[in-house]
Amino acid sequence: MDLRYSAEDEAFRAELRSWLEKQVPGHGPPPASDDWPARRAYDTAWQRKLHDAGLAGLAWPAAFGGRGLPSSQQLVYLEEYARAGAPYIGVNFVGLMHAGPTLIAEGSDAQRSFHLPRILRGESVWCQGFSEPQAGSDLASLRTRAVRRGDEYLVSGQKIWSTRAHVADWCELLVRTDPEAPKHKGITWLILDMHQPGVKVRPMKTLDGESHFCEVFLDEARVPVSSRVGDENDGWRVANVTLRFERGTAFAQHIITLRTQLLRLAALAKARRGARGTKWDELRGRIGRLWASVEALWRMTQMCISEAERTGVPSPLGSAVKLRYSELGQEITELAVRVAGRSVIGATELAGFATAELAREHLWSLQMTIAAGTSQIQRNLIAQRILGMPKGK
Ligand SMILES: Cc1cc2nc3c(=O)[nH]c(=O)nc-3n(C[C@H](O)[C@H](O)[C@H](O)COP(=O)(O)OP(=O)(O)OC[C@H]3O[C@@H](n4cnc5c(N)ncnc54)[C@H](O)[C@@H]3O)c2cc1C
Repeated sequence: MDLRYSAEDEAFRAELRSWLEKQVPGHGPPPASDDWPARRAYDTAWQRKLHDAGLAGLAWPAAFGGRGLPSSQQLVYLEEYARAGAPYIGVNFVGLMHAGPTLIAEGSDAQRSFHLPRILRGESVWCQGFSEPQAGSDLASLRTRAVRRGDEYLVSGQKIWSTRAHVADWCELLVRTDPEAPKHKGITWLILDMHQPGVKVRPMKTLDGESHFCEVFLDEARVPVSSRVGDENDGWRVANVTLRFERGTAFAQHIITLRTQLLRLAALAKARRGARGTKWDELRGRIGRLWASVEALWRMTQMCISEAERTGVPSPLGSAVKLRYSELGQEITELAVRVAGRSVIGATELAGFATAELAREHLWSLQMTIAAGTSQIQRNLIAQRILGMPKGK
């Protein structure tokens, strides 16, 4: 793999940089973190701007409304996007990063032509309905039941930890269609319309004061058979395609943002004085090593993205990327909180940075070793699927 950017890549970078420099300030600051209707409006309006500028779905094939750009330009985009401090992908995350890619890989023509343009234009928001109270790491134990009646399924059960389900239009939903089959063999992947009487959504408040994920209660919710992705009882295979996108490429935007966080940490350390000089004098070796780790992780992300370009679906290497990203993110944000010290409590400023933001970022990072599969589960997957080690008893 050649990691150098070509002249065309650099031309794309220059064009993109000038577009972002004009558009990002004009979009204004994000709304309050618990104003979900406003957050949805803010995130989807930004997605619409990207779409209208030809910057939506850069990795998606042109036949499905994307740009079909080479992986090198997708990477340039991510670098410039982070550099410009452009709006977080927010409510568009599931649709753009794993539901849309799953439909590209596994959906029917009708599903693709209905859903993909809406996702790219920021007109529809998706959530993920995989986990249940008794099925997290052991996802295949899920019990939400779908019973076929004529040309639709009636779905009853409960999902949990569904991120942004309270502002979602559609849900990538895993259900049990054959309770008699071995647990991995009786699962089906459905597209659920969230706007119907059989769907009740209850947000849950988290440690950082936000309510970004929800319980979803389903009582004979209706899903047309035409909204099934893949065959009935073949949902475990389709779910693994979704999870490969979720772990392999979905967090690339977050990973490159670690660079920005680390540069800010260095600036904070230089501004902060301890008993024996600045914090920078004390910590520069450690910050240097963290920088090297972020760069190494970015190279792994580049491998994942260019591999997905060749094969259509990211490889199990994504588990290693997701594991390293989530642990590194915690280390960087925790060090930033330590450097800022007591000033993280309360809305003060240090070296031009809002200290409350440092605390918020660290609290946010704590969830990352759980979401999209815990670190223990990623280690199991690395052992079995990358290193070829036998399954434990
Ligand atoms: C911020 C956030 C957002 C999320 N968003 C969504 C979403 O949108 N949609 C969705 O469906 N789900 C979502 N999830 C759920 C997430 O996928 C689960 O929390 C995760 O898979 C772990 O499941 P669990 O919480 O049930 O923990 P458990 O599975 O009960 O695990 C408890 C502990 O046991 C360990 N453990 C379990 N099994 C093993 C094993 N075989 N080997 C070693 N250790 C093991 C785990 O690592 C963990 O430490 C989200 C979670 C978070 C934190």
